[in-house]
Order: sequence, then C-alpha cells, then structure tokens
Amino acid sequence: MQDNDKNPLVSVFVILGTDENYNRAILDSIESQTYPNIEIIKNSYDLHQAHGDYVLIATSDDYYGPDTISGLMAGLLESDLDVVLFNMERHMESGDDSRWSDAARHYAFPFRAYGIDGFPYISPQFMMQTNSYLGACFLRRNFLVRHNLMRIVRPNAFIRQVLMHKPRTYTMTSYMGVHTVRPMVGAQNENDYLTQQMADFRFLYRYAKSLFWLWKWREPIKKLIFDFATMSNVGILNKLRPRKYISQCSIHLVDHCNLNCKSCSHFSCLARAGDFELKLDDFRRDIRRLHRVTRGRVRILELYGGEPLLHPNVLPFMKYARRTFRRATIRFITNGILLPQQKPEFWKTAHKYKILISPTKYPINVDWASVTETANKYRAALDFFGGTGYCQKTLYHKPLDIRGTQNPALSFINCQHTGCINLYKGRLYHCPVAAYIKYFNRQFGTRLKLTPMDSLDIHEVGLRPDEVFDFVARPIPFCRYCMSRATTRGHPWETTKKDISEWTLLRKK
Ligand code: SF4
Ligand code: SF4
Repeated sequence: MQDNDKNPLVSVFVILGTDENYNRAILDSIESQTYPNIEIIKNSYDLHQAHGDYVLIATSDDYYGPDTISGLMAGLLESDLDVVLFNMERHMESGDDSRWSDAARHYAFPFRAYGIDGFPYISPQFMMQTNSYLGACFLRRNFLVRHNLMRIVRPNAFIRQVLMHKPRTYTMTSYMGVHTVRPMVGAQNENDYLTQQMADFRFLYRYAKSLFWLWKWREPIKKLIFDFATMSNVGILNKLRPRKYISQCSIHLVDHCNLNCKSCSHFSCLARAGDFELKLDDFRRDIRRLHRVTRGRVRILELYGGEPLLHPNVLPFMKYARRTFRRATIRFITNGILLPQQKPEFWKTAHKYKILISPTKYPINVDWASVTETANKYRAALDFFGGTGYCQKTLYHKPLDIRGTQNPALSFINCQHTGCINLYKGRLYHCPVAAYIKYFNRQFGTRLKLTPMDSLDIHEVGLRPDEVFDFVARPIPFCRYCMSRATTRGHPWETTKKDISEWTLLRKK
C-alpha cells in the first residue's frame, strides 16, 4: 500500500525505439527508481493516459539515476511549480566525442533573465539553438490539462510549447540522468536532432529573406509611414467620423464673380454672367428638403457665389433661409465690392433675419469704413470672413491632377475643403471643386469626370439624416483629381490670367 499523500503517483511515459538494449536500459532505470509510486506507460504520446499528478517523459536513449524521481518529487512537493527542468549529461555513443550539454543550462538563461514568475514571452526562434529534452522535463499534469497540452505532436517542440504558456518553472542544475546521442543513420533521436537543425536553418533563411524584402521595399514603407503620420496630423479619424450634423453648407446664388481671383476654388472667375442664377422656387424647394433630411442640423448656412450680390434680388433668399433654418448661423459671403451700393432694405433685412454679412477683405479699393458705418447704423451684424479684417488676404494653390491618378482616400483626408459642403441644383457636394468643375473643364477642354457617386441627391425618396452625414464624411471618386498634399499657401492675391497653371502643376502657357 502506498501513502498517496506523501508519494503522489508519477506517470512515466517511455518512448521505446528499435534497439532492444536501449529499451531494456531505460525500462530498468525507471523500474529501479527509489520513488515508490510510479506507473509506466509505454510508447504513447497521449498524455490523457496518465493517472498521476506528475508526468515524466523518457525516451529509449535516456538513462536515469535511481534517485531521479524521488529527488524531483522532494523539491516539487514543497513548492507550487508546474515544470522542473533538470540536467542531462549528453554524450555521443561512440565515446570518442563525448561532451556535456544540459537542458537546464539551455533553458535557464531566459528564466534567469526574466525571473521565474516574470517570464514574459519567448519565441520558438529564441530557443532554436537549444535542442529539446523531452526527458529532462518534469511536468505537473494539471498545468498540461489547463493548457490543452495533452498530446505530444512534435516531440522536439513539446517543451517549447509548454514554456510558451509561462509555467512556474524551476531549473535544477544537479545531475539527474544521461542522454545518449546515437550517430548512426536511422537512429530515432539523431534524426530528430537533424530535423531540428534543418528547421533552424529554414528559419534563418526566412529571416534573411524578410530582411531583404524590407530593404527592397524601404521606400514604399517609408512613404507609408509618412502618409500615416500625415494622416494622424490632420486628424484622419476625426475627418472620417460621421457627425450628427453638417457644420457648414454653402449655396451659390450665382456662379460668376466681379473680382475674378486667381485660382478661385469655386472656379467663379471662369464662370460667365448668365451661366447660373438661382431661382427662388428652386432655393425654397432645396432648402426645405435640406432641412428635412438633416432634421435641421446644419450649423452654418452660407449664401455664397461667385459674388451673391450679382443676383438681382437677394432679399427673399435671406428671408427664406432664416425662416427655414431658425437656429443656424446664416452668413452672406461677399467680396464686398457691391456692399457700398446696397440699399437700406438690404441692411434692414440682414438685421431682421439675423443674417451675418461676411465680406472678405481683399486688397482692393473698397471703403470699408463706410460699409462698417452703414452696417452699424442698421444694426446688421458684419464680420470679415476668415480673419481678413485683421490680416492680409492671401491665396492658396491646390493643384488638380487632370489624369485623376491620386489616391482618393489620401486626397480626402489631406484636403482643406472637407466640410465645405455645397448644395447645388438639389445635390450635396463635399466641396466647391467637385460642384463647379464644369467651368474648369469648359475653359481648358479637360474632362475631369463627375459621377453620380460624387454627390448626393437630397430629393432621393427615403433619404435618412445618417445617410447624409455618412456621405459627407467619406471620400468621393472625384477626390482622385486632387493633389491635396501639394497644396501651397500664402501666395499674394492677384486676379486670374485664366491659365491652367493656376489650378494644376502644369507649366504656364
Ligand atoms: S471673390 Fe471669391 S468667388 Fe469671386 S473669384 Fe474671388 S475667390 Fe472666387
Ligand atoms: S474632391 Fe475631395 S479632395 Fe478634392 S477638394 Fe473635394 S473633398 Fe477635397
């Protein structure tokens, strides 16, 4: 009768080979252990067959000293360890090339480096030069069950698999047994050993190939990293996140302009009088629909152009805009040239319907003092657009790629026009560039193509607010024409020469 509390059962798996002498030797060494409670399971890799709390796996070319198991158990019973690695003397069978090599020393390095409990992670490659010692590993069965390590699929990789699960491990450096390496061709363990070395070489080859690949693709990788950094800088996630509102929506009253700035992003300097003049009925129809499909969630509504004061009758537009969007900020964007000629009715309407008159202060001859005085007289709100009341208006140059070879997503997230929504002829556009590109095409004979996917028909039956907010937060196919990252700023203001170089990187004609 065994005292199972003092001497728990140890299951010894013996993997037998083809050589009867070796088989006999390992079986003898297990049977002659001084530890009293041992079961021997022969030729099985299935650890489910173990009844014991502890498992030792012995191969036919191992030999254990008689006190191996009792020594290991004495240590284990005092502790709460999962794995004990111990020394095996390893020597060549021929005897003339004997050498020491021990599992404990191989595996001890990472454990000493990181501490027994703090062992964070070790890759199989890290251990590639350490041959596996099935027979130099004593395991707690519960640990194997917990991590589903109950079948030895690849004997030489088993200990590595075990160690990957970060067991509480102890390494014993005192001598425990002998492992014989048989150099003959066909010997089971020698083959395993060679297989392992081949695997190591294969890994090194793959590693070298990866390095070569990295070197070969260094430029695209650098570009990718740069792109990613740029994206982060402009708040990529923020740009692509659909909001619950439209922050700003512009509506052209006319498309042409009386100032004709160089590189106008609305192409108004290329539009002609009579090209487009918004009808009040169309405006009412569109703006009512815009209110419905956004549930009124437009923060800033802009009456824009071209120069909106070139429209013969702007007052009803101001009134109707406010009646529809009662809580939005409504801005009247103008270059100011015609402001001094506006009749009192204009200023009174602006005051009554809370329309913010927002002139851009171009470096041209406008009597801003008298404009400001008139606005004050009629208590109309007046605020210079884009800070131009305090600093010199300059131009930016955002080139178009007329071949349309840009990455639309990258163009979009680097674009300063995202959020400049335009409502034009019943459709929502992300930006003035897409909405008014027809004037550029007409002027220069180009074919920058707009598709139905480049705008959203707000009169579409069943259109929901989230579909609208989603649309304006996504790149459109037309973004492939924009070289957003090549945008340059701070150019002195001047009028257009209608040269294609003002909107592209093509040379001046
Ligand atoms: S004033 Fe405005 S709309 Fe007119 S050409 Fe200049 S930038 Fe374009
Ligand atoms: S088409 Fe796209 S990238 Fe170009 S201006 Fe419009 S939103 Fe920006």
